[in-house]
Amino acid sequence: MKSIREYEFWFITGSQHLYGDETLRQVEKDAKEMVKGLSDSGLLPSKLVWKPTVKTPAEITDIVKEANHDESCAGIITWMHTFSPSKMWINGLKRLQKPYLHFHTQFNREIPWNEIDMDFMNLNQSAHGDREHGFIAARLRMPRKVVVGYWQDEEPVREISDWMRAAVGFAFSNSLKMVRFGDNMCQVAVTEGDKVESEIKLGWDIEYMGVGALVDEMKKVTDAQVDEKMKEYADRYDIDTDNIDAVRYQAKTEIALRKICGENGYCAFTTNFQDLWGMEQLPGLACQNMMADGFGFGGEGDWKVAAMCAVMKAMAEGKDGGTAFMEDYTYHFEKGNEHILGAHMLEVCPSIAADRPKIQVHPLGIGDRSDPARLVFNSKDGDAIVASLIDMGGRMRLIVNDIKAKNPLHPMPKLPVAGVMWVPQPNLKVSAHAWILAGGAHHSVLSYDVTADMMKDWADMMGIEFIHINADTKINDLEKELFWNDIAYKLK
Ligand code: MN
Repeated sequence: MKSIREYEFWFITGSQHLYGDETLRQVEKDAKEMVKGLSDSGLLPSKLVWKPTVKTPAEITDIVKEANHDESCAGIITWMHTFSPSKMWINGLKRLQKPYLHFHTQFNREIPWNEIDMDFMNLNQSAHGDREHGFIAARLRMPRKVVVGYWQDEEPVREISDWMRAAVGFAFSNSLKMVRFGDNMCQVAVTEGDKVESEIKLGWDIEYMGVGALVDEMKKVTDAQVDEKMKEYADRYDIDTDNIDAVRYQAKTEIALRKICGENGYCAFTTNFQDLWGMEQLPGLACQNMMADGFGFGGEGDWKVAAMCAVMKAMAEGKDGGTAFMEDYTYHFEKGNEHILGAHMLEVCPSIAADRPKIQVHPLGIGDRSDPARLVFNSKDGDAIVASLIDMGGRMRLIVNDIKAKNPLHPMPKLPVAGVMWVPQPNLKVSAHAWILAGGAHHSVLSYDVTADMMKDWADMMGIEFIHINADTKINDLEKELFWNDIAYKLK
């Protein structure tokens, strides 16, 4: 998988031949300066590349075709320095297969009161050139991001930066391969879904492997390999158990999992405690340590959450807040201090840990296997989101809730798993009501790095429904939105 730093975004300036060569030379000079300024801001996660000004339908079509076929190009950014008649753009934009951002800015910040003349007006007319450009994208019903603001200000550059992360999520999603070890947990509805539809809409290649294949691979792992992995564990975590054999078993599991993933290009995987043929422990520490390195994971065969976890980790690359597979576990209903406690039976990603995780071994009430080693830790305070992708039958719906995450309010000495607490926005009562009305799963991906805006941009790029539960959510409005969306998607 490509790193976010290896992706490029192409900056395409629109114009036309009407104004003469001198104006076009100035357009080129200004656009280059703008690209340099945006790049030098240090805020962009990927490379911004200046492309020659497009002035004719053929030039526009050619640059779009080139963008479509260039593996490094994760999206295009357009800006009209002058007027660029947008019938010229139809043929090109119709072919565009990459994310598209329209940056509505202009080269000069202020009107030069004493110098302004008609030459200046002809050169600096984004105010109407960009409106012409906006019309044709609206007319073509194109999904796109519009960012408005002066290019030397931080806010629009941050918006472009966030959109770039979503666009990298789009590229990542379209090349995602993952594996399910065993099937989904019996009788569970929300972890199921249409894998063919997921590949069509989201690009996910979701493969299957019997647990026996993993067990076979584990048999090939040598003691020396396990010793090496144990050194890595000791570097990263405190080993807080005398049951070293149980930890070594997880090390062996992880080595085999990584080998299978490496050989097949899998960036995410699932396990299911009901399907552990030939295994002594449910993978716990093994999954957690792999998630720390960017792998997506889902418990109980939940491949949707596993893939979302990998996509969101790719979008968050270079940020240090953390992104984790999560589950709403239990509530704290103290009046005026309502919280959700999130955890999982083992597998919470240590990227969200507030303290150095401890490796511990405890019994697991379900699954009928030996006591598994797992990482135990508490999570940090901070603004975050939880995201859940569900299959509505005929379409995918992404539900995102803004949350205020917290280190657990009190110690829970008998709780043998990693945990995080949060106050969902606008509050637990409305959030849980909204989440349940929308059909959100108990599994989610929690991220301190990926924002709801990034997820909305990503959902728009993928062409799926997006529901945002936030500080402004009102149940009546949400009910109408869900009802209207249902009708809209039937017409689509
Ligand atoms: Mn679960």
